[in-house]
Amino acid sequence: TAPETRYSVRTDRDVRNLIIIGSGPAGYTAAVYAARADLAPLVIEGAAFGGALMTTTEVENFPGFPVGVLGPDLMDAMRKQAARFGADLLCDDAVHAELGGAVKRVCAGDVEYRARAVILATGSAWRPLGVPGEQRLLGRGVSSCATCDGFFFKGQHVAVVGGGDSAMEEATFLTRYAESVTIVHRRDEFRASRIMAERALADPKIAVRWNTVVTGVEGADRVTAVSVRDARTEATGTLDVTGLFIAIGHDPRSELFAGQVDVDAQGYVRTQAPSSRTNLPGVFACGDLVDRTYRQAVTAAGTGCVAALDAERHLADLG
Ligand code: FAD
Repeated sequence: TAPETRYSVRTDRDVRNLIIIGSGPAGYTAAVYAARADLAPLVIEGAAFGGALMTTTEVENFPGFPVGVLGPDLMDAMRKQAARFGADLLCDDAVHAELGGAVKRVCAGDVEYRARAVILATGSAWRPLGVPGEQRLLGRGVSSCATCDGFFFKGQHVAVVGGGDSAMEEATFLTRYAESVTIVHRRDEFRASRIMAERALADPKIAVRWNTVVTGVEGADRVTAVSVRDARTEATGTLDVTGLFIAIGHDPRSELFAGQVDVDAQGYVRTQAPSSRTNLPGVFACGDLVDRTYRQAVTAAGTGCVAALDAERHLADLG
């Protein structure tokens, strides 16, 4: 549907060089590079700026912070750095995008913005279980990222929910730190690839609770146990763990562009690696929106840099 028929929009002044959609490490890094290259990018940050790290506390693996940094502080610093070089920041959601033509159009609020290049950096959302206690104890024992948080669970008993490759990888990774890892899976076989499943099953630190559903997360201010139910017998019980890693999947936030840019079966935007180019000229993508594998702040920042450099080159070629 054309934006005119869906929203009452007014069109922003001239056609800009570059619009960046998203304000996580990928979007802000792209903004820093593009702003320093004098492209005066518009960053459509989303209604809440800063991305996934705004929901966490300590980040200990972002280079340059020997004693760690709070997620929101890191994102605030990236935001200020982008603003310092002249990025135009807009705290609103992009609600419509037309990316096909030479002039790209993106609507946010009641304004249509136009640019010759667009960087997509809208990230991905981990799929929550939706059980009581999960959101309240997020960052207090509930985690969606073993690489990020595994270190905090040294010598503890933890559980991983899921049955796919990510769950196997998370569980195997966690054995480096945890005393024991219990994979909780609602079926009687894994969906994961055979090699990943076999590796997890062979690990002496990993146990599996088959046909088991997590029904709640217990604890006043930290996880103390997880409530479970047997999917066949309906018997209920608890697992005495202090960590719960949720690995039932991620949903890349590509709905706004799907049908225009190529996405894979899971909705990740396809890029022409090692570049950030999508199938559409002048449209680049970076960060967790394109990354099903690594999903780290530093890798998102890295591909954000790549996207800005690709966009800069594209604009230079346009003359
Ligand atoms: P995101 O950070 O997800 O940002 C996406 C941005 O796009 C958001 O600002 C969002 O508002 C915006 N957006 C989405 N849709 C729209 C729209 N329609 N219009 C405008 N804007 C939009 N990684 C580490 O390296 N170390 C850690 O310790 C670590 N801890 C983590 C802890 C938690 C709880 C979580 C959830 C993740 C953690 N990660 C960590 C992973 C890391 O946060 C992500 O890999 C990284 O943030 C991805 O960056 P991104 O810029 O691609 O996406």
